[in-house]
Amino acid sequence: TGKAETFEFQSESRQLLQLVVHSIYSEKDIFLRELISNASDALDKLRLESLRDSGLDADTSDLHIALETDTAERTLTVRDNGIGMSRDDVVELIGTIAKSGTAEFARKLKEANDAKDATVSTDLIGSFGVGFYSSFMVADRVTLVTRRAGEKEGTRWESEGEGTYRLQRVEDAPQGTSVTLHLKPVDEEDNLHDYTAEHTLRSIVRRHSDFIPWPIRTEVEREEDGTTTRAVDTLNSMKALWGRSPEEISEEEYTEFYRHVSHDWSDPLRTIHTRAEGTFEYQALLFLPSRAPVDLHQQDARRGVNLYVRRVFIMDDCTTLLPEYLRFVKGVVDAQDLSLNVSREALQQDRQIQLMHRRLVKKILASVKSLRTEDPERYATFWREFGRALKEGLLSDADNRATILEVSSFASTHDAEAPTSLRAYKERMKEGQEHIYYVTGTSRARLENSPHMEAFLAKGYEVLLLTDPVDEVWVEQVGDFDGTPLQSVAKGRVDLEPADKEAEESEEAARRKEEFGPLLEWLGTRLGEQVKEVRLSARLTTSPACIVGDEFDVTPTLEKMYRAMGQ
Ligand code: ADP
Ligand code: MG
Repeated sequence: TGKAETFEFQSESRQLLQLVVHSIYSEKDIFLRELISNASDALDKLRLESLRDSGLDADTSDLHIALETDTAERTLTVRDNGIGMSRDDVVELIGTIAKSGTAEFARKLKEANDAKDATVSTDLIGSFGVGFYSSFMVADRVTLVTRRAGEKEGTRWESEGEGTYRLQRVEDAPQGTSVTLHLKPVDEEDNLHDYTAEHTLRSIVRRHSDFIPWPIRTEVEREEDGTTTRAVDTLNSMKALWGRSPEEISEEEYTEFYRHVSHDWSDPLRTIHTRAEGTFEYQALLFLPSRAPVDLHQQDARRGVNLYVRRVFIMDDCTTLLPEYLRFVKGVVDAQDLSLNVSREALQQDRQIQLMHRRLVKKILASVKSLRTEDPERYATFWREFGRALKEGLLSDADNRATILEVSSFASTHDAEAPTSLRAYKERMKEGQEHIYYVTGTSRARLENSPHMEAFLAKGYEVLLLTDPVDEVWVEQVGDFDGTPLQSVAKGRVDLEPADKEAEESEEAARRKEEFGPLLEWLGTRLGEQVKEVRLSARLTTSPACIVGDEFDVTPTLEKMYRAMGQ
């Protein structure tokens, strides 16, 4: 056993630890769920690695999680014989920020605290999981001993959760990881329970970790006829939640499972539990989160669902099962007839996976559709958080375009507060209106004041105000909604007069042409190459002139986007 070396936590980690130590979460019991969740992941990983690599020097004969207590020392140890961590892993995963978005979270929280905005900070905290660090809610010292499967040497990590941690080599560490908590004194008022008591552990495991697929064992004492016997008891039922029938699963169970698979501490917005039987069987338990991760629109974000084959964990972040535009969906897919050895590359070619992919997309979109009718408030949350991502599907997923349009919402001149569906837009269309009008740009305020809008507003036509960058692109591809063409108010000629009025006004038009002919000609020569044509228009009511694009021109925003991309 080597000498202990002291290291400093990365500054964001230190901030996060401070928050934890100063007890930001009211429910302290959840530290156990977090440690068990990590242990369970480590067991999944070991089983998988030993399947893939038959030469791996690891014992997989009795994979389990053990809770060990010492009432005299007041310690609780959560032990697993899973994959373990190398010394570098420990430094990287425990000493620094492993979770994407942590830095962002710490920054936002500091802002809220500085602004003394208590509602924002409690809201933020409630939704942000601190994982391993949650141990410091109940312990004033944490010792982690770990050895990576296949490696000889182990590592001991210890910290008081303040500025520093200590690392030490250990020679005789068992395979896997043990986390020992030196518990703070029991304080029922502060929700610090006695975590050395069997009944406390039993009830926490029941509530938060029952579905964990590995046995969670603890040693129990039984008094019978005056003699005390000790026995090992398994605290969880180990039933895979997705394999059970939805009628017998409570909302709490779904929520706890969601937290385990998503590493997110908030409640899911919607649960999608489905199975397919027949030639190709699978079960899926998917969730729409209630909040977008901060990195939803970044390239390197974590995405995808967990893939299992007959209850055996195969991979997390499986991106082949769902399209990019549904990257926010979390959960588990369990396939019956896939090989346990399937690789990420092989998955992409697999016909069964492709079939599953198609069915799951349909299920998810159908679920969003029913969310809209059943629970408009939740749907509004969904749309605010994930609408931008979903609209990418209008471009990439031509097969489901109609459904995506159906479940999408758009800001419109009809109501400044609530976005509208295209269906509702159509129902409000004026007599004689043949198009769904829209305008694209960078902000609602700018669009509302755009001269292109004048005639439409004067006529009482509703116009969709599209301000997401992706809107520029999909409107080009999507010609119509349910047979009604989409038309930009800023492009081409827009016929605002119904056909029968045209004849009536032709005399008027001829008169105006004569009156303004010289002006148009003069403008045309002055502007020269900069414009294609100068013409009289019926679209303006108060502004004297406006620039319109040709039917097939790129819009100003797109032009900027292309220029920014160097094209
Ligand atoms: P998260 O689980 O969301 O990634 P945690 O803070 O809970 O965040 O854990 C950080 C990382 O530390 C994990 O992703 C994992 O790589 C590693 N880790 C934690 N506990 C264990 C364990 N018992 N065995 C192996 N690795 C672990
Ligand atoms: Mg974790």
